Amino acid sequence: MDKKIESLIQSWEKRNILGLYSVNKEEAAKKILSLIPAAASIGISGSLTLDQLGVVKKLEERGNKVFNQYKPRISWDESLELRNSGSVADYYLTSANAISEKGELVFFSGWGHRISGISNAKNVLVVCGINKITPNLESGLKRSREYVTPLNCKRLNWNSACLSEGVCRKDICLLPEYKRMCCQILVIEAEVVPGRLKVLLVGETLGF
Ligand code: SF4
Repeated sequence: MDKKIESLIQSWEKRNILGLYSVNKEEAAKKILSLIPAAASIGISGSLTLDQLGVVKKLEERGNKVFNQYKPRISWDESLELRNSGSVADYYLTSANAISEKGELVFFSGWGHRISGISNAKNVLVVCGINKITPNLESGLKRSREYVTPLNCKRLNWNSACLSEGVCRKDICLLPEYKRMCCQILVIEAEVVPGRLKVLLVGETLGF
């Protein structure tokens, strides 16, 4: 493990956040399955990182109750119910948009369900590739706004002001002309409950 990751894990320890490390996707997927009990209910956020790890399917196949709002052919009301149930589940599984070298975690959200899940679930597991580490909080916020969100808007064909050119124009990114993706921002600096918040860093590029 390189010095930067060791120091990040130590910073999390001081912040009452448990930092873990897996060298690659395969090891990370196994680790996630071992960290979450088979009987636990799970809320999830939309995440390219989780898609790349294939863990949601594995957890469902293993018998975990996953409040999966991305099941095909469900209505918005059903999706909303799953999102709400997921936000108070035994575990909330998500990724961050950026991680500062000092350990602050940055999350952008459209409706705020991810923020609700991170705040309210009994346990939270954040999984991130090392590509999301930034020198400081300011560059983490910049990365999330100017790099990650435009790519996610493109990936999901989301009608935001950055969709066509990939450049943030937040001053005009408002209804009714645009559907803004980054409406809410959460920065985690520390955790109160011991063991509740875990971050699994993966030594590969994952997500944006
Ligand atoms: S504020 Fe709008 S234009 Fe800017 S990154 Fe967010 S979704 Fe894109």
